[in-house]
Amino acid sequence: MFDSHFHTTDPRLITLPEVVQGKNHGVEIGADFESLPAVFEYAREHEGIYCTAGVHPEYADTYSANDFENFVVANLNEPKFVAIGECGVDYHRDDLPSREQQITVFEHQIFMADRYHKPLVVHSRDAWEDTANVLIANRSKLKHGVLIHCMSYTAEQAKFLMEQLSGVPVYFAFGGHITYKNKAYLHDTLRAIPLDRILIETDAPYLAPVPKRGEINRPQYIQYTAETMAQVLNKTVDEIELMTRNNAYQFYKIKAVQ
Ligand SMILES: [Zn+2]
Repeated sequence: MFDSHFHTTDPRLITLPEVVQGKNHGVEIGADFESLPAVFEYAREHEGIYCTAGVHPEYADTYSANDFENFVVANLNEPKFVAIGECGVDYHRDDLPSREQQITVFEHQIFMADRYHKPLVVHSRDAWEDTANVLIANRSKLKHGVLIHCMSYTAEQAKFLMEQLSGVPVYFAFGGHITYKNKAYLHDTLRAIPLDRILIETDAPYLAPVPKRGEINRPQYIQYTAETMAQVLNKTVDEIELMTRNNAYQFYKIKAVQ
């Protein structure tokens, strides 16, 4: 499997043997500014692992536009550097930075993606309206592609976004919560998305799929998410693996060399 979104340099995962050996292929996602050097170093040192530079909305209150741009510019020659993000909006908890701060930081990273010709990885939780509004208003800056990671919205919302962003390559990644009983509506969402725009991810160490729900998520648990996606789409797990790998390579502009 090619895992389109994980955080294996997280202290909860970095000592796992398969992480040390770089056995999980996918994209190591940068989510806080302080950790970006470690994220890039991990990708540089392991075959089949790529990296992104982003600041999650949780850290919007400490974001420095200058520092972030300097980091991006300093790493433009890094072939493993495939996208800007994760960035976006998250209204799930009350103790997060203000909505205004989150949107400002999100918009700056959209600007960076456009300026430096990278696709954009978006995090959006309980914030559908602002996510859609910001993306639609910045449509012209998304020509390198946008990925809604850990897609948690309805089929209607997915279709609306694809219509409003017509001409923009819009992708959606599904994670562990497509296996949750209380998120069964995501089956309809998955079926509403063109097959060439669907990615798979773990978001490890977060959002472990059933039957591991509640545990620290690991890249190997991607199998459970793939099994649910295969059932929903009436495909085999092997077909899901091939399809999501090709789509991830398309979105992240990775050449199929492995
Ligand atoms: Zn993440």
